[in-house]
Amino acid sequence: MRNLSVRTKITLWFSVLIILITAMMFTLMLVVSTSVLHTDVQETLKSVIETNAQEIEFIADISTQEMEAGDHYIEYNNAYLEIDDDFLNESSGVYTALYDSDGNLLYGQNLINAEISHDAKIHKVTYNKEKYYTFSKALSGDDLDGLILLGAINENANKTILNRIVNISLIVLPALAVFAIAGGYFLAGRFLRPIRKIIDSAENITDGNDLSMRIEIPEGRDELNKLADTYNKMFSRLEHSFEEEKQFTSDISHELRTPVATILAQCELTLEKERTSDEYIKSLTVINRQCMRMKNIVEEMLRYARLEKLDSLPNAQEINLSDLFNDVAEEQNARRVRSITINTDIDNGIIITGNSDLLVRLINNLISNAYRYGKDNGKIFLSLKQNEQEIILLVKDDGIGIDKEAQDKIFNRFYQADKARTAKDSEFGIGLGLSTASVIARLHGGYMGVESETGKGSTFYFKIPKKTK
Ligand code: ADP
Repeated sequence: MRNLSVRTKITLWFSVLIILITAMMFTLMLVVSTSVLHTDVQETLKSVIETNAQEIEFIADISTQEMEAGDHYIEYNNAYLEIDDDFLNESSGVYTALYDSDGNLLYGQNLINAEISHDAKIHKVTYNKEKYYTFSKALSGDDLDGLILLGAINENANKTILNRIVNISLIVLPALAVFAIAGGYFLAGRFLRPIRKIIDSAENITDGNDLSMRIEIPEGRDELNKLADTYNKMFSRLEHSFEEEKQFTSDISHELRTPVATILAQCELTLEKERTSDEYIKSLTVINRQCMRMKNIVEEMLRYARLEKLDSLPNAQEINLSDLFNDVAEEQNARRVRSITINTDIDNGIIITGNSDLLVRLINNLISNAYRYGKDNGKIFLSLKQNEQEIILLVKDDGIGIDKEAQDKIFNRFYQADKARTAKDSEFGIGLGLSTASVIARLHGGYMGVESETGKGSTFYFKIPKKTK
């Protein structure tokens, strides 16, 4: 059963159901028909007896009576009974017998020796293992009192009708069942055809390793349509992650290419001829600096890759963001880089649910950038405020600023607005600082943004919307 196709399974279930329903219909029809036919037989019995009762007449003086051919005359009570020729001796399976008050059979036949009853009801009797209905009617008026008409009819008198119904049903019902099963098989095939198409498309996509292909979405808005749509969304996500993976690998090799090329060039140059120890030291210093840069790149990338994989914030707890921001600001201010000073306007007691290590990393990235791209003797301004809707953390500098075009890209991985400058100096980052900050902001349910003007400075903000309860 397990290995059968869905179409065959559906058809099998459907067939079992149809056969059951057909059998039930047949039984029901048989029961109803039998009951209707039995009622009909009883009606016939009563009606024949009632009709025959009209055909019996008492004739006191037969000499004055004009004898009619076909009529029967029976002596009765010193007179005669006239049985009209319309008297149905045996009609529609009903046998009628006329009895006098002493129980003597005067006319007709009682083939099953049925007994007379006086309750004007139909009785059921068994004779020779067959069931019969009997009905007795007492005649009255015109000196007929005391006479009794007794009728009997076989329960299955109209069995031929029942047989015909059964015969017809035995042909029609199986034919209908076969027709329904064939129809079911055909319809199951039709309904499942879009699924076959979806499977074929999915197989094509996986076999051909082409994630940019999509499944053709069938018309309408039913489950199949949703299935195809879900598959397509899954392929989109897969394609996106593969693209990201590819981009990441290519970014890594790109970032490592420069220091590797510098080291190789430095080695080749130094090895060209015998050098003085000073020259060797100089050369090794260059190589050392490039190695440090490579180490930084690899470490930064690993940290970023680990962070980017996270779906939710690790070790989240209540944090006093005001205290944390003040501490980082103080540490950074102590560096006294290029005589840049830090001013703060940090509101107290701002609490968030967060990860303090990650928040310190975010703030440090922003302040480091403010130092890197700030002007000598410049100012860095740090602020933390909150209003009804959100908490806003700002890091503002009066440095080189960022042009409009670059502002859209600085949060992308490895993007550096001034590549020439940053690549030369191992003090400068590798273009992951802001993308890391962005991921951290997202993990805290917030987002990063920038406002900047070239030559005047930049303001980076981290906003966390407050949860509305
Ligand atoms: P990097 O390691 O190069 O600093 P980031 O992701 O931190 O990488 O920043 C990306 C780029 O955005 C930087 O290379 C720089 O061009 C620009 N940038 C970032 N912060 C500032 C700032 N405060 N002022 C001007 N430019 C900035």
